Formats: sequence, structure tokens, C-alpha cells
Amino acid sequence: MNATTSLVLGTTNAGKLRELAELLEPLGIACCSLAGLASAIEVEETGSSFAENAALKATQQAMALGRWVLAEDSGLVVDALGGAPGIYSARFSGAEATDARNNSLLLERLESQPAALRSAHYACHAALSDPTGRIVAVSSGVCGGVIADRPSGAGGFGYDPLFIVPEYQRTFGELSPAVKAVISHRARAMRAIIPAISRWLLPAGQPVGD
Ligand code: IMP
Repeated sequence: MNATTSLVLGTTNAGKLRELAELLEPLGIACCSLAGLASAIEVEETGSSFAENAALKATQQAMALGRWVLAEDSGLVVDALGGAPGIYSARFSGAEATDARNNSLLLERLESQPAALRSAHYACHAALSDPTGRIVAVSSGVCGGVIADRPSGAGGFGYDPLFIVPEYQRTFGELSPAVKAVISHRARAMRAIIPAISRWLLPAGQPVGD
């Protein structure tokens, strides 16, 4: 496997990178992050949907690097907030946003809402681009939940300490990474795009995981 057939994960978000690398590990495809790639660019997320932003990140980064790029755009969609923060999840609390500030703002915005009206879902759209900037596959995944009234747990990243998974009555901050790797929006989007990654990047006839 060389630079033309290995896969660049088009994100600098450490939490996402960790999860993506673990989800793709069984494929046996060499993956690397943007860190340390001299020609990597900062892609402006000017799209109006998760799908548009995922495609922008994949194609623009692939053309800048001349490499295969798997990019995703994801975020939290809260029903009582009309779908906010949505594509603005990373920057919800402004230019100086941090996970802690975003979570505080979310709690503030939902302050008067009872549990029954705190439904939400995470969404993830993924796009795979060839080295010329052509999208060869896309996928998406969602994970439903409820926004807690206070943070619990230190696992995951972003809004995870506030995101209760109804099946477990625990937040993603409290659940193990193994659970998140099965039921999360990102896991679902990755499982849906893995056949295309195998088709395009594994030598013909090589079984996944070899
Ligand atoms: P993006 O990098 O523009 O796609 O923004 C993603 C943002 O959505 C992150 O910075 C988090 O705020 C939020 N997000 C996406 N996926 C997750 C997750 O799995 N857990 C917690 N927050 C997430």
C-alpha cells in the first residue's frame, strides 16, 4: 500500500479521528490524518447541509493532496431548537467555541424544556473522493437521543456528556467506546460506505481484514 492507495481521513477533530480510525481498522487499509501533511488545506464549510459539507471537505482536500480522502460532516440536531445547532454544531457558541461552551449554551437554550421535548439526533454524512476530486461514494447515518439536563460521563467528545441514548438510559459520555462504535451516527455512516472503500482501495480479490 502506498500514498496513492492509502486513505486520508479529512478531519482535524481528534475525537472523530479516533472513532474513524477504530471503525476502519478491520478493513486493513492504511489510514492517516491530515496532521503532518504539508499540502493539506483548511476547507471552508460553506455548504448548507451535512451532505454538501462532507462533499466539499472530501473533494477539495483530495485535489489539494492528490490522495484518496474520506471526509464526513456531522452534528447534533435538536428538535425543540428547529434543528439547531445542526451544521453549526462545532461553532454553536461562536468563534471561540469549545465543547464545554457549546454544551453550556445547549443547556441554556433548553432550560425550560421538559424531558419529553428534548429529543434530538446526531447525523453524519460521509463522502469518499478519488485523488482527482471525484466523489465515488456517499453515505449517511443517524442516532436518536434525548438531551440531558446536566452533563454525565467523560467519554466521547463534543455533546456526548449531554446525549442520552434511550436504549441504555446513559449518555454517550457514560457508555463505552465499544457501544458507540456499534450504534453511533458515524458508525452507521462508516458501515454503509465501507463496501465502496474496499472496492476502490483494496487490491481486487483481497478479503476485508487481510
Ligand atoms: P464538523 O467537524 O463541522 O463536522 O462538526 C462536528 C461537530 O458536531 C463536533 O465538533 C461536535 O460538536 C458535533 N459532533 C459530531 N459528532 C459528534 C459525536 O459523535 N459526539 C459529540 N458531538 C459530535
